[in-house]
Amino acid sequence: MIPFLDLKKINKPYETAFQEKLKSVLDNGWYILGKEVETFEKAFAAYCKTDYCIGVGNGFDALVLIFKGYITLGTLQKGDEVIVPANTYIASVLAIIEAGLVPILVEPKLETYNLNPDLIQEKITPKTKAILAVHLYGQLAEMDQINEIADQNNLLVVEDAAQSHGAFENTNRVKIPNSKNVTWNEGKKFSGAIAYSFYPGKNLGCLGDGGAIVTNDSALAKVLFSLRNYGSEKKYYNEYIGVNSRLDELQASFLHLKLPDLDADNDKRRSIAKRYVTEIKNDKIVLPIWDFSNNHVFHLFVIRTPDREDLQEYLTQNTIQTVIHYPIPVHKQKAFSEWNDLSFPITERIHKEVLSLPMSPVLTASEVDCIIAVLNSY
Ligand SMILES: *Cc1c(COP(=O)(O)O)cnc(C)c1O
Repeated sequence: MIPFLDLKKINKPYETAFQEKLKSVLDNGWYILGKEVETFEKAFAAYCKTDYCIGVGNGFDALVLIFKGYITLGTLQKGDEVIVPANTYIASVLAIIEAGLVPILVEPKLETYNLNPDLIQEKITPKTKAILAVHLYGQLAEMDQINEIADQNNLLVVEDAAQSHGAFENTNRVKIPNSKNVTWNEGKKFSGAIAYSFYPGKNLGCLGDGGAIVTNDSALAKVLFSLRNYGSEKKYYNEYIGVNSRLDELQASFLHLKLPDLDADNDKRRSIAKRYVTEIKNDKIVLPIWDFSNNHVFHLFVIRTPDREDLQEYLTQNTIQTVIHYPIPVHKQKAFSEWNDLSFPITERIHKEVLSLPMSPVLTASEVDCIIAVLNSY
């Protein structure tokens, strides 16, 4: 069997280093918000070229805390509407709701699976105050267009980068402003805050739950450092109504060990994607459109096919494990029964047709050979 994702193989090379870190954290006797978290936050902020990184419990909390941070600052109010792609992973939508805001679903482009900027304007009402851009499957959303619409309508932009660690925009990393929608000195506009997840299967994953927020907004960062820790900066003195969502010392130390390999891992993902894109030749399969730039880090390699169940069954019989991201759109989930009758044809088609092929930095050339050969004879 060629596994969809072999996490054991991904983490094996770090075994000795992980054990040394465990010993050092044990010897230190300090497990929450200590020097490991601080060191990783500095390293990840430097990697993202941002001023601040706030380590939190997971990617969902990173999103929730960004919105709660803006509410605490008075930039957003409970009940404000947030534009979000209809085909995103449900966490993006749940985070908006958890923060007391209202998600407004907008269709993606069928070709890129990312938010269609042309469809945002018609969904904007006087209550719309933010756009949550999601870089789905590892490909950057069309941020220039999104930021321009946001600027014209005075909206905040927040990014869900849970699947896109290390994605570059034209070889420039995603950069972000000092306050909402401030113009960067290259004349480009950037978002206010970006949420990351370090769930084990992400491009940068720890051995449990973990997440982070990066931003250049010093006021937001100050509130977030406090909100993640019960709204308190000084122990037992609470300034804000906060939560408990902290990256722990052990996970931070593991992430710090893995961070230097992220770019090389993403390069490996891209070279596998390049082989898939150029060597898979089958009229029944729609491959992702990708211009070979670094704006895609292939968290997932997602194809489309009219009879998805048949292809998945065929691949399973040929020892290739695949996964569907995702089988049911958010608006068709039982949890959102009030949305079940809404119609998002592009989103529904995507959820019916997509299939994710094995993709990871530890996939071997002969496994890729096999996957391509099996797909070409389907
Ligand atoms: C994984 C993911 C999240 C949530 O991250 P967790 O760490 O699992 O909470 C949010 N958004 C997207 C797009 C994701 O893929």
